[in-house]
Amino acid sequence: MTAHSRDLQLAQPFISATSSSGPAASVSGHVPHVVIIGAGFGGLSAATALRHEKVEVTVIDRRNYHLFQPLLYQVATAALSPADIAQPIRSILRRQRNATVLLGRVTDVDTETREVLIGERRIRYDYLIVATGARHAYFGHDEWEAVAPGLKKIEDATDIRRRILLAFEEAENAAHAEERVPMLTFAVVGGGPTGVELAGQIAELAKQALVADFRRIQPHDARVLLIEAGPRLLPAFPERLSAVAKRALERLGVEVRLGAPVTACDDQGVMVGDERIQAGVVIWAAGVAASPAAKWLAAESDRAGRVKINADLSLPGHPEIFVIGDTALAADPLPGVAAVAKQAGKYVAGVIRARLRGRPTRPFRYLNLGNLATIGRTAAVADFGWLRLTGWIAWVLWGLVHIYFLIGFRNRLVVALDWLWAYLTFRRGARLITGHSDE
Ligand SMILES: Cc1cc2nc3c(=O)[nH]c(=O)nc-3n(C[C@H](O)[C@H](O)[C@H](O)COP(=O)(O)OP(=O)(O)OC[C@H]3O[C@@H](n4cnc5c(N)ncnc54)[C@H](O)[C@@H]3O)c2cc1C
Repeated sequence: MTAHSRDLQLAQPFISATSSSGPAASVSGHVPHVVIIGAGFGGLSAATALRHEKVEVTVIDRRNYHLFQPLLYQVATAALSPADIAQPIRSILRRQRNATVLLGRVTDVDTETREVLIGERRIRYDYLIVATGARHAYFGHDEWEAVAPGLKKIEDATDIRRRILLAFEEAENAAHAEERVPMLTFAVVGGGPTGVELAGQIAELAKQALVADFRRIQPHDARVLLIEAGPRLLPAFPERLSAVAKRALERLGVEVRLGAPVTACDDQGVMVGDERIQAGVVIWAAGVAASPAAKWLAAESDRAGRVKINADLSLPGHPEIFVIGDTALAADPLPGVAAVAKQAGKYVAGVIRARLRGRPTRPFRYLNLGNLATIGRTAAVADFGWLRLTGWIAWVLWGLVHIYFLIGFRNRLVVALDWLWAYLTFRRGARLITGHSDE
């Protein structure tokens, strides 16, 4: 039996019993089929919230693991290993009897026949939840990606880690001292949480973790720049916390450039206005674009590709399709954070449950539980609206929250131990240069 025919078989029980106003409840004994594209924060939250419901859930993802993106920058800066922040989707859903996991890259959606396409394969749905997230955007300069990688996937993180660690190795090998200056200049573009966290971690790596390991170079002479086009760092935080973050970075030796839009990137560095900055490593943390879901759904979207949705997160004209998380655009736009995606996933599961029972639903409301960003060792900022914290209290809180939200007991334990080890010894356990071999 081919993979194609297996999928068609899987899809067979889910054909029919749908109406033009959305799928009917299981009146005829038909078990509604909920297809979820994407096992990120939104998709997984929807899937698990449907665990006690009389529906068949199929979760499709192009990767076999759920990725905890908030800690990707720690993989990029050699503090954690990839497996510490990822968990196989099958393992997460193994006890959920009504859930099936499919590995595959969705290429389109046929909204007429209510089918999801994975290349030639078609999977029928009664309800569809699109939770395909976002990727980085280069504001029309996609050619910059090769020289200034963004951070979204594990492969991005290990690529950035390789570039950072190689820069130190190449500087150690350089024949002349003046060659080392550009090699050891790291430019991070974008002053949001990811840029702030990356710049702080690179500075700590250079000035603490690597300091005794080289003979010809002084790693702490590395120059780390954080370049932000806007007037302040962390624009989603209150101004006072932005200023605290800037001061904390400067204490670590990071040069923070504000109001400085990058106008060009190449393999020698970046242009900021008319100023040329020679940099051996450039990292892009400046913009995101949604997945191509709007194209699949022939839906209205904004410039970043986010799909415009109704107050109940359904697609206008398609009550059976929901779009959630980073790939969705509500009338009152919500931040692209994990909490929004998770709450939306749970909410949509509730809408499906209510529809199956013929009950009314309420519009989605995001409950903002607070924002956290870390700068480095014992330095972080936390904004709960009613309470704002800085320094080590915010840092400890940041650590506890991230360990709590990581999926899997093993990952929680390993990350907690890695952090304790790094705190006590100033060292990093994942300093491997991988993914680029001349052999
Ligand atoms: C570096 C970084 C740091 C971050 N830090 C924080 C933070 O500290 N706090 C916070 O709250 N948020 C943070 N975020 C944002 C947060 O991770 C996102 O808002 C959240 O992941 C969005 O969830 P989602 O379900 O919409 O998408 P995602 O979690 O991105 O999941 C999308 C899923 O869809 C799958 N997919 C995509 N396209 C296809 C396709 N064609 N076929 C099949 N599967 C597909 C992907 O493989 C992925 O598993 C960070 C993001 C990044 C990149």
